[in-house]
Amino acid sequence: MTLPHTGRALADAAPVPYWLDRPTRPDPLPPLTGPATADLLVIGGGYAGLWTALLAKEADPDRDVLLVDAGTCGWAASGRNGGFCAASLTHGLANGVERFPDEIGELERLGRENLDAIGATIDRHGIDCDFERTGELAVAVAPYQLDGLAADAELGRRHGRDVRLLDRDEVRAEVASPTYLGGLWDTDRTALLDPAKLAWGLRRAALDLGVRIHEHTRVTGLTADGPALRATTAGGADAAPGTVRAARVALATNAFPPLLRRLRAWTVPVYDYALMTEPLTAAQRDAVGWRNRQGLADTGNQFHYYRLTADNRILFGGYDAVYHYGNRVAPALEQREATFHTLAAHFLTTFPQLDGLRFSHRWGGVIDTCTRFCAFFGTAHQGRLAYAAGYTGLGVGATRFGARVTLDLLAGADTPLTRLDLVRRKPLPFPPEPIRAAGINLTRWSLARADARDGRRNLWLRTLDRFGLGFDS
Ligand SMILES: Cc1cc2nc3c(=O)[nH]c(=O)nc-3n(C[C@H](O)[C@H](O)[C@H](O)COP(=O)(O)OP(=O)(O)OC[C@H]3O[C@@H](n4cnc5c(N)ncnc54)[C@H](O)[C@@H]3O)c2cc1C
Repeated sequence: MTLPHTGRALADAAPVPYWLDRPTRPDPLPPLTGPATADLLVIGGGYAGLWTALLAKEADPDRDVLLVDAGTCGWAASGRNGGFCAASLTHGLANGVERFPDEIGELERLGRENLDAIGATIDRHGIDCDFERTGELAVAVAPYQLDGLAADAELGRRHGRDVRLLDRDEVRAEVASPTYLGGLWDTDRTALLDPAKLAWGLRRAALDLGVRIHEHTRVTGLTADGPALRATTAGGADAAPGTVRAARVALATNAFPPLLRRLRAWTVPVYDYALMTEPLTAAQRDAVGWRNRQGLADTGNQFHYYRLTADNRILFGGYDAVYHYGNRVAPALEQREATFHTLAAHFLTTFPQLDGLRFSHRWGGVIDTCTRFCAFFGTAHQGRLAYAAGYTGLGVGATRFGARVTLDLLAGADTPLTRLDLVRRKPLPFPPEPIRAAGINLTRWSLARADARDGRRNLWLRTLDRFGLGFDS
């Protein structure tokens, strides 16, 4: 339903990701034409590919590293996300405890080390991406969610997290919303950042170290070539096709049609949407408080995530998570009117004092959801190719860890990372179509219903829970 006030608020919103719509966006690098060779070919120039290239070069400056992207580095999920850079490698502590009970302590430690290392890399390479380690505040907006927050607080404390459980008045003193009934502030395990500026900064750092990057270069096929692999590429409109012969290949193509057949069973592309407001005036800032600038998320199954930007806009995203039959991915799916109006209406319910504020941008992007909600890893072509996929909407931080695992796998090394269950075990696959779409849509419907029924999960969700299967964004 299009309400008059959401229509007004959205009337001037540009249908492009705010983060990418800025004059500082770098010019594209030329496509690959003709034959090339490399020690390591990285396919995909989002965070996963950029971290892989950068870490490979930092470890061995003589290694010849070539990265190609079908578009430009950071144009996809990495340049259009919420910018919540979480320490968690397991899509949250509760999911990690459930799936990896024996090593969750180690995964928590590695996640924290990973977030610290991201901060250190940003400093070392002078990447200006508005990195603010403000933590994340989870808010209850329905009475039944309060029990969940208390349980999460207890779990967090047991795992050494600095968590603060806030009652109704305390949480509203942090951020003024009449919808908040309580909150849980995990103070230092999430940083907020400017996603596109991080991707562009990693790209520049990689180039500075000597990584060769070709943009508008899509890999169309991979074949064995003696002890190496050969990738064929298609360039932009008038670029000739190319080939790259590489001893090792890192596959970092996220939710896009995978070059490796087996990945089709393990991930589904799911669209997630966001709005950006105009910058708040000083009076509007005063009306919401939010002096500690935490990243915010409510705690229903269909949740919103929201945050301030460096210039005090509010990004407001989430809620709908949309799957299209047959794993469809297409630019047209990045715009969804109904979702934008839902988000705008929910924004005004959350912050009625900001009525009149307009949205400057609206966009969507695709995430690679897997049934365990956190990345999985593997090799193919006798260990000459390695991949990490399935970050399920929490890849801003975890992709750096995934890049480390990818490089260890490509080295054929037995390391503390390659020995992890997280790395060795795969998620349960999704069924083929048409059962895939039917199952995902039934799950979405059931999750929405649970939110409307005080969190009570129906038989379908309880069955999925029993088998450790799920659908999330
Ligand atoms: C709207 C939205 C909000 C999100 N919010 C958050 C958040 O707040 N926090 C969080 O942690 N995560 C968030 N995520 C998820 C996060 O953005 C991703 O997990 C992360 O960016 C994944 O990085 P990536 O490098 O794997 O993928 P991408 O950034 O998607 O990069 C993949 C790249 O591969 C390239 N490619 C694909 N196929 C080929 C090919 N055949 N040849 C050459 N190149 C190819 C593409 O062009 C693309 O650039 C969000 C995602 C979306 C869409």
